[in-house]
Amino acid sequence: MILKEEEINKLKEVEKFSKEKVRPMASEIDRLGEFPNNLVNDMISMGLFSMYIPSKYGGMGYSLSSLMETIRIISRECASTSLILDVTVSLFAEPIIQFGSEFLKEKYLGKVARGEIGALAITEPGTGSDAAAIKTTAKKENGRYRINGTKTFITNGKEARFYLVSAMTDPIKKHKGMTMFVVDRDNPGLSIGNEFRKMGVRGSSTTEVILDNVEVGEEYVMGREGDGFKIEMETLNVGRIGIASQAVGISEGAFNDMRNYAMQNQENIREWFLFRMADIASDLQSSIKNLEEAIAYSESGKNSPLLSSISKLTAGDSAVSITSRVLSLLGVNALSEEYPVERRFREAKITQIYEGTNEIQRLIIGKELLKGRDFKD
Ligand SMILES: Cc1cc2nc3c(=O)[nH]c(=O)nc-3n(C[C@H](O)[C@H](O)[C@H](O)COP(=O)(O)OP(=O)(O)OC[C@H]3O[C@@H](n4cnc5c(N)ncnc54)[C@H](O)[C@@H]3O)c2cc1C
Repeated sequence: MILKEEEINKLKEVEKFSKEKVRPMASEIDRLGEFPNNLVNDMISMGLFSMYIPSKYGGMGYSLSSLMETIRIISRECASTSLILDVTVSLFAEPIIQFGSEFLKEKYLGKVARGEIGALAITEPGTGSDAAAIKTTAKKENGRYRINGTKTFITNGKEARFYLVSAMTDPIKKHKGMTMFVVDRDNPGLSIGNEFRKMGVRGSSTTEVILDNVEVGEEYVMGREGDGFKIEMETLNVGRIGIASQAVGISEGAFNDMRNYAMQNQENIREWFLFRMADIASDLQSSIKNLEEAIAYSESGKNSPLLSSISKLTAGDSAVSITSRVLSLLGVNALSEEYPVERRFREAKITQIYEGTNEIQRLIIGKELLKGRDFKD
């Protein structure tokens, strides 16, 4: 995709923001485990929540490439900060853009563009990978739905103003009986349960979301009743490209630390260090290529899970491997403010887990291949 001049200029602004504002705060955000209010406000003023929202609904109408590049650039310095933006735009706003009614688009896309936070709530205690086994129900009475259940491990759980929630409207039909709803934070019956302490991305909140007789009207159904599973899978197809962007950004952060360290300590760098740097550079380059292909494919209007799952799998596995290898190369220096590789290693791990673990990505890729699907089908 060829970016418009205004998109290129915006990305330069994002680079400056990431280096000058995000980087100096990232270790403190991690240490305190606090939501980065100042940085989120900066992202709102820069229009980063608005860039991907169509101009008809108050956004800038930029491309998926611009959004993904933004997530990648911010992840080079702080994966918590990029995650807050990524989840709001690619997991809450994107499915509304793709599948929402005019009512939902009018009601929520402008709010996202103005920086209100959103979340996607699908995981439940005991049902993460098996998304069709959820227990949350939505019973229809007199044209309204009553939703009951508990969602867990929800990113942005505490700060979100609205959630995209999966629930069974017809449990007998299994995945064909699932429906997605948009639920407002101030809807009576919705409350936030436990907040989880985490290994990485500690600046983004991860909480339970409890739905106790939450009532919504039919106009809050995404698509049609029974379409929930399909919408969820298609949402994750794009969402996984967001996680691949995040993972590539984390790897690039570690790669930059490694190269800066080597350039600043050239007298101590031996051949074995160069060999290891070369291997890391090759792995990084492969995951960048897979990411770029997945973005280009998605922008061409196609929505096969093959390339998005491959990009998430390779970027996530590489991020863990690259940050781990740079950590070993830099030794105690990897704990410093100058080269915060230890934090990047903890950030990388989650990219193998959320939006479908990398084992689930392997299953998806294998099943697509078994159907005879090719990369560009
Ligand atoms: C920090 C964080 C943020 C998150 N944010 C969100 C969010 O915003 N919204 C949301 O809905 N969820 C979110 N999640 C939940 C996340 O998507 C799930 O943790 C993930 O899908 C895995 O589910 P699980 O933890 O229940 O693991 P399980 O499904 O119990 O899996 C456990 C292990 O078994 C493996 N496994 C399971 N089934 C298979 C299989 N069929 N074949 C091979 N291996 C298998 C898995 O790969 C994994 O290694 C978040 C999780 C974390 C940790």
